[in-house]
Parts: sequence; structure tokens; C-alpha cells
Amino acid sequence: MELDVFRKQAHQMVDWMADYLENVSQYPVSPDVVPGQIRASIPARAPEQAEPFEQIFADFEQAILPGMTHWQHPSFFGYFPANSSPPSVLAEMLTATLGAQCMSWLTSPAATELEQRMMEWLRDLLALPANWTGVIQDTASTATFCALLSARERATAGRGNLQGLHGQPRFTVYCSSEAHSSIEKAMRMAGLGSENLRKIDVDQAFAMVPSELSLQIHRDREEGLTPLCVVAAFGTTGSTAIDPLGPLAQVCQRENLWLHVDAAFAGSALILPEMRIWAEGLERADSFVFNPHKWLMTNFDCSAYYVKEPQTLLDTFALTPEYLKTAQDDQVYNYRDWGPQLGRRFRALKLWFVLRSYGAEGLRQIIRQHLEWAQDLASQIQAAPDFELLAPVTFNTLCFRYLSPQDADLDRVNQTLLQSLNASGEMFMTHTRLKGVYVLRWVLGQTRLEQRHIAAAWEKIQATARAL
Ligand SMILES: *Cc1c(COP(=O)(O)O)cnc(C)c1O
Repeated sequence: MELDVFRKQAHQMVDWMADYLENVSQYPVSPDVVPGQIRASIPARAPEQAEPFEQIFADFEQAILPGMTHWQHPSFFGYFPANSSPPSVLAEMLTATLGAQCMSWLTSPAATELEQRMMEWLRDLLALPANWTGVIQDTASTATFCALLSARERATAGRGNLQGLHGQPRFTVYCSSEAHSSIEKAMRMAGLGSENLRKIDVDQAFAMVPSELSLQIHRDREEGLTPLCVVAAFGTTGSTAIDPLGPLAQVCQRENLWLHVDAAFAGSALILPEMRIWAEGLERADSFVFNPHKWLMTNFDCSAYYVKEPQTLLDTFALTPEYLKTAQDDQVYNYRDWGPQLGRRFRALKLWFVLRSYGAEGLRQIIRQHLEWAQDLASQIQAAPDFELLAPVTFNTLCFRYLSPQDADLDRVNQTLLQSLNASGEMFMTHTRLKGVYVLRWVLGQTRLEQRHIAAAWEKIQATARAL
């Protein structure tokens, strides 16, 4: 593509992007397609001859867009949001244009140093301990993998990396029965084995019970196993439950275990001083992850991983072949040594754009507003005689179900309700099970969410349920 064509197309595309964001609420949130349909509409072979950009873009609008789930739709209430925002999109355009690899300081000094600064900004905005050091990982899954590997290497004095795990103790790791599946995946990838992950019982609020944790650690030691690490949740994926960090930190200190805190979604709420009471004890953790790419207006991927001792992370990951050696190695951060990836995107730029465009106060206002709407909606659901809430609403996630007066099979009723709501295209929600009970999850966290979208969805949910 010649640059004059690029210039012309880019101008038009930015107009398209602004129109899309302005009108995104008019699209069905999730598409009406069957598996295989989109693939079948794309030619089986790559073209031999160049095609004009107009044609490519027309096909994007015609074949791809109708098959997209619109995560930036204000009535996207499913999973957790993957918020983007205009300043973040602009930064991503620049990142793509610069096309830099940010693996070493030398391969892009500004990228490394901006990342250092942005991790300091975020650390201070969340009131995390001033001696923690941060690095941007692609996802929370990767950060949790880093935590388990670091714990493993600390416990084996680096022999796991050099000799493998043969001859090492059988290590056990602990999380709650509500913890995210990324922990089990990390157990597998770290060679620790998912059978050595202990899922500790939760209380009525779906938070880990510290006495159960202590008991299980005791039983495992009796059997000759070696407890290694506890992964605590600050906001579980099912219901945003908060494990009691203070008591868990105490257990970890007593037992000499690594404490990793997974705050992938809810961590962003710590920019609000009034939410920090929920994180008491967090300062005693060895590592902590939260995702600005979920709730902090920053495009995927951007996961902030903090550690108390960066040297342990470096001992786990640093490996410098001759062709990557630079003259500055002992004066700088080379982020390739801070995680699994060698090549890295320039992800700090979008954080810089977002944090400056909104300002801390702007971001606090948005998150505070989401939390207020969630409390308001919780009262409305509680007041409806034929609906119930099934988990405490601490953040902006509501777990609820319809109590059908006619049909006693509430799991099935609520499955049907969810299908019907999502098929309408007017909203999108997802579900989970809490203590075996099928519940709908309603997350109020979209960048473009306004109160009227919540009100319209609540009307729709009630009407659809009562007409089932
Ligand atoms: C979303 C989520 C994850 C996984 O996040 P990725 O960045 O997609 O890996 C992990 N833990 C919790 C609690 C989450 O909510």
C-alpha cells in the first residue's frame, strides 16, 4: 500500500471508528450466526493478486462486522468488560505505527522507561506499597503463571529451572473453590500438576475460609507434601468475592508460603480510597496482578503485575544469549527478563494516554459511578418479589436469578431466560454457578454505560422472565 493510499484510508477509517463508537448501541450486542458460517464466507485460499483496500474494507463491513460480539456496546454485561476508550485506541494506533519490539531497554528506551513510570503511577494510584515493582504482562493468566514459577524457583533455590522437578518435593498450592481457572492452568504449565492444587472451601460470601486453609496445609504436611503458595482472590470471577487477605497473609507468613493476589478485575476499584478497606493485608503479599484492560478504560492487553522482590522474578526468567547482550545491561530494566515473552508490545503508551486524558479523578468518577449504580440495582432486584440476589454486591457484579412461580426447575428457567435475553440482541449477559445454583451475572462496567441502559435492561429482564 502506497503511503498516499494509507493516508486517505486512515482518515476515512478514523471517521468510521468515531461513527462506530457513537452508534455502537444500535448493533445487536452479540451476533446471530451459527458455527462455521463466517469461515465459509471467506475464500478458501489467500489471493494471488493484490486487492484494492476499498474491497477489503467493504468485506470487513459485510462479512466480519455482523459476526462480532460488540464488547464496547453499553449493554454488554457479560463476563467482565474489556474496556477500551478513545485515548487508548489512539495510543494503539501509534503503537502499531511505531511497530517497535520492547524486549530490551536498547530496543526502545522510551518504551521501557515509560513502562517503569506507568507502573509507578498505577502503584501509587492504587495505594500499593511503595517498594513494589511493576511490569506489564499480556494477561492476568501470564502474571499468575509468573507468580507460581517464582514461588517454585524460590523454593527450589533455582534448581527447578536447571534440573527440572524430578527429585524435588511434591509441592501443593492453595486457592478457593471460586478461584479462576488460570491458576489450575498455571499449575499444569509450571510442571506442578493440577492435582496438587487444593481448592479450599468458601463461606457464605464465597470467600476462602482461613481455618480450612490452615487445616489443609497441616494435612498436606502430614502426608509429606510441601506447601508452596496461596493464591488469594481480590474479586472472584463468579461473584467478585474477596478472600480475607490479612488472615491469609498470616497463614502464609507462619508457613513460609508465597502469597499471590489475583485482583484481575476488581483491582481497578482500589483507585477509590473508600474501597481500600477490602484490601487490608494486601501489603503483605509477594505478588499482585490486576488488569487495566478490564475496568480501567485501557484496551486489551494490559495486565499490571507487581512483585515485592523483583530479583526473584529475574532469577526465574532472565536468560541472556549473546545476540541480546547490550552495553547497558547492568544499568537498565530489560523487560524480556520479567516474564515468559521475549518480544513485547509497547503497552505503556496507552496507559499514559488514558491516565492523562481522564486524570485520576476522572477514572475515580467512572468507577464510583459504576459502584453506585450496582448498589441501586441491587436494591431494585431485592425489592422485586420474583427475583433474588445470590451473592453480596461489593463491586459492580450482580449475581441474580428469576424465581418462577410456575416452574420449580429454576436452573432451567434461568438458562432459558439468559438465552432469550441474549438472542434479543438488546443486551448480553453470562452465567455461572454458585454453590451449584445457576445464576445470571450482570456486570455494570462498560465505558459507555449510562443509567438508562441499566433501566432498559432491567425492564426487559423482568418482562422476558414473566412471559416465559
Ligand atoms: C479475568 C480474570 C482472570 C484472567 O484474566 P486474563 O487477563 O484474561 O488472563 C484471572 N483472574 C480473575 C479473577 C479474573 O477475573
